[in-house]
Amino acid sequence: MIIKPKVRGFICTTAHPKGCKVHVEEQIDYVKAHKPASAGPKNVLVIGCSNGYGLASRISAAFGYGANTLGVMFEKEPSEKRPASAGWYNTKAFEAAAAAEGVFAKSLNADAFSDEAKAQVIDVIKNEMGGKVDLVVYSLGSPRRTDPETGVTYSSSLKAIGEPVTRKSLNTDTKEVSDFTLEPATDEEIANTVKVMGGEDWERWIDQLSAAGVLAEGVQTTAYSYIGKDLTWPIYGGATIGRAKQDVDRACTAIQQKLKAELNGSAHVSVLKAVVTQSSSAIPVMPLYLSILIRVMKERGTNEGCIEQVHGLLTEQLYSGAELTLDEAGRIRMDLKELEPDVQAEVEAIWNKVDSSNVSELTDFAEYQKEFFKLFGFGYDQVDYEQDVNPIV
Ligand code: NAD
Repeated sequence: MIIKPKVRGFICTTAHPKGCKVHVEEQIDYVKAHKPASAGPKNVLVIGCSNGYGLASRISAAFGYGANTLGVMFEKEPSEKRPASAGWYNTKAFEAAAAAEGVFAKSLNADAFSDEAKAQVIDVIKNEMGGKVDLVVYSLGSPRRTDPETGVTYSSSLKAIGEPVTRKSLNTDTKEVSDFTLEPATDEEIANTVKVMGGEDWERWIDQLSAAGVLAEGVQTTAYSYIGKDLTWPIYGGATIGRAKQDVDRACTAIQQKLKAELNGSAHVSVLKAVVTQSSSAIPVMPLYLSILIRVMKERGTNEGCIEQVHGLLTEQLYSGAELTLDEAGRIRMDLKELEPDVQAEVEAIWNKVDSSNVSELTDFAEYQKEFFKLFGFGYDQVDYEQDVNPIV
C-alpha cells in the first residue's frame, strides 16, 4: 500500500508505519543523548502511552532509565486495506526498540476509562512486572468517557464559560485567519467535560491499583495539565477544559493524601507547555497560537517539544534527587519559558497583527505544519513515501 496523508479538518486519517518509527527513534535518540544523572523509575505505568506527552514519558522512562513500561492506549489496528492510527505504529516502533535493548515493554489497546482495562493492567503488573509499579503517568486526551459505574457516556465540549468568546483562528487547510466564536457552555456541558477530562478517572486508577497492592512504597504519580496565559485563557484555562483541569488539581490533592498515608508516595500535577499533538490541534485557537509561539520561542532558542518537556520533568524534577520546585498550588511547572512575560508580549503583538495575508510571514506556520505531519509519520526525508509499504506491523 502507498500511504499518503489524508487530512480532514484538524486530523490526519492516515499514518505511515516507517515515518512513525522515525518519529519514535528521534525521541529515543534525544533521551540517549541526555542521560539522567540520578537514579529513576524502574517499573512504570503510562496511561495514554501512544502519542504526545504520554509516548514521550514512556520513551524517557525506558531509554533514559532502562525502566520496564506498561502502556495503555486506544488506537486503531491496521488491516489489509487501511493503515493503523499513528499511536499504533508509534507503539510498535517503541516496543521493537525496547526489545532490541532487552527492556520490558507491554502495551494494552483498551479503553483506559473502563474497569476491565484497570484489571488487565493489574494482572500484567502482578504477573509480568515483579508485582509493583513505582511511577504512574496519567496522560489521556479523549473527547468522551463511559463511566464504568453507570455505563453513561459523557462527551466533553470546548466551550466558553459565562459569555461567548470571539477569537482569531487559523484554518490549517486553507491558511485563512478568521474570527470564530465559542458559545458559552451549559452547566451540563461543563459537568460533562469535567467527567471526561477531570480527575475522577485518575483517582479511580490509583484506588484500584492501590487496593490490588501493585503500587510500590514511595510510588509517584503525575497527571498532565495546561494553564496558559491571556491569549488562550478564554478558550482554555477559563473555559470548560480549564474546569476539567481544576478538577485534576482537586483529584491530585486527594491522591496525594492517600498515597502519602499508605505508601509514603506522592502525586503531582505537572503543567506542561503547549505543543503540537493530536489533542492540541483539535482546540480551535491552538494552531494559530502555536504557530506564533514556535516562532517566538525558536528565536530565543527555548522552544521545546514533548520529549524535551517530559525528559526535563523526569530528570530535573521527579528524579533529580533534589526537592521539587512547586508553584503555590503544589504543581510542577514545566511551562515557565512559554509564560515568560516578554514571550507572551511578543506572541500577543504578532497575534494582533496576523491575518490571512501575512500568516506565513509573521508566524512559523510552516514548522507547525511540519510537526503536525510528523505526528502521523509524514514529512521525513529518510522515508520514501512512494514505496509500497505493508500497513500491518
Ligand atoms: P495526545 O492526543 O497526543 O495523546 C492522547 C493519548 O491518550 C493517546 O496515547 C491515546 O491513545 C490515549 N487515549 C485517549 N483515549 C483513551 C482511552 N479511552 N483509553 C486509553 N487511551 C486513550 O494528547 P496530549 O496532547 O499528549 O495530551 C496528554 C495530556 O497532556 C492531556 O492531559 C493534556 O491536557 C496534557 N497537555 C497537553 C498539552 C499540549 O499542548 N498538547 C499541553 C499541556 C498538557
